[in-house]
Amino acid sequence: MKTAVSSFGTIITASQAAPTEARCPKCGGKVILRVRRLMANGGNSYYWRHLDDDHPCERQKPFMHLRLGA
Ligand SMILES: [Zn+2]
Repeated sequence: MKTAVSSFGTIITASQAAPTEARCPKCGGKVILRVRRLMANGGNSYYWRHLDDDHPCERQKPFMHLRLGA
């Protein structure tokens, strides 16, 4: 996902300046900041991922994280 909720309750977008940990806006579970290198243009893609990678809100949309990483 591209956006998460901080411990202060504010929405934060995944980026280089974002904190390494936040919470999922859907289920409240812990998410961590991940980086994916984009070979096409040499840039980095930042996104949030569930810490245990097994949350109901992601299981309902199995292809969501694939689209977000593109
Ligand atoms: Zn979640």
